[in-house]
Amino acid sequence: MMGHNKNFDIPKEMGAWVLNDPDNINIVKKPVPQPKEGEVLLKIDAVAICATDLEIISHGNPARIEGELPFNKNYSPGHEAMGRVVKLGEGVTEFKLGDRVAVEIHAGCGRCEMCRKGWYTSCLNYGFASKGHKANGFTTDGAFAEYMTNRTQTLVHVPDDMSDEEATLAVTAGTSMYTLDVMGGLFAGQTMVVTGPGPIGLCAVGVASALGAEVVLTGTRDNRLEIGKKLGANHVVNVKKQNPVEFVRDLTCGIGAHYVLECSGAANAINDASAMIRRGGKIGLAAFPSKPVEVDIANLVRNNAYIYATRGEGKSACHRAMALMAQKRFDAKLIHTHTFPMKDLQTGLKYTRERIEDAIKVVVRNDERLI
Ligand SMILES: [Zn+2]
Ligand SMILES: [Zn+2]
Repeated sequence: MMGHNKNFDIPKEMGAWVLNDPDNINIVKKPVPQPKEGEVLLKIDAVAICATDLEIISHGNPARIEGELPFNKNYSPGHEAMGRVVKLGEGVTEFKLGDRVAVEIHAGCGRCEMCRKGWYTSCLNYGFASKGHKANGFTTDGAFAEYMTNRTQTLVHVPDDMSDEEATLAVTAGTSMYTLDVMGGLFAGQTMVVTGPGPIGLCAVGVASALGAEVVLTGTRDNRLEIGKKLGANHVVNVKKQNPVEFVRDLTCGIGAHYVLECSGAANAINDASAMIRRGGKIGLAAFPSKPVEVDIANLVRNNAYIYATRGEGKSACHRAMALMAQKRFDAKLIHTHTFPMKDLQTGLKYTRERIEDAIKVVVRNDERLI
């Protein structure tokens, strides 16, 4: 067949990590999945570990298997992945065997109101594969495995000169870009404060800077703030040493920033954001505070503030984030700190959870068989 320039030996069975009881994962044998119409089979090469993986493995949410928590369902987590196309499902001509691709998480169901609007990360059939919903690593089998099937709309080509590890960051960068999308800004020449230099915050700095914003990054650790500078932050504020609200108000002649993108999850973050934005300013929420927080709503109302809470990487944001990465508009590699073999996933999870050696993005590689 045309375009089939490589043939791959695909085993019948593969190794895959599965979630048993909370905080209990192990490698099992599974049949290698078969790509359906409009899907391809990927041989996974690299997967970045996300804070959400830790959440799922310990507490289940936001993963859902047919509406239920994902424990003891033979389900494989892992969602920030890249790999090679090794088998094409029926009707697939947009990819060919051997293509290197990064994956987006959510395909959605494609038939609900939200999917039809392009908001497939908040699909109304979330968690129901029986209704056509697919979000690998959340509601269908994910990438902590040797192989995975994906619908082609969730695949992005990886440039030849981009490493596997960097390519796994397309999802994180896409998540940041989606929040910026939903905030609906022009960004060029406008002031954007990013609070919290975790993976999403640092990627947001890269994306917002590539879009021409004047970026202020706030955080508590100088080394993270330095990485933020390299990603394009014009100003950094260590909130342990300097009041970030005063800094932003001074920078903007007392008017306030156009946007605050909250990526810290800190209890006072919304109130700080509310004090940093100008009248009619916009606040994007991309982090989860661990407990309900007290919010000064009156100040938001007085200032005609807009608040946007977003989920995941909708509106094909990963494709556009990858385009910026391919153009080297920001260096996502700065966020990748550690690599382990996939069989040592538990070590990678521990590094991420405990931030050992200031781990930011830990990647596991699938270079040797798991079984
Ligand atoms: Zn993630
Ligand atoms: Zn849907």
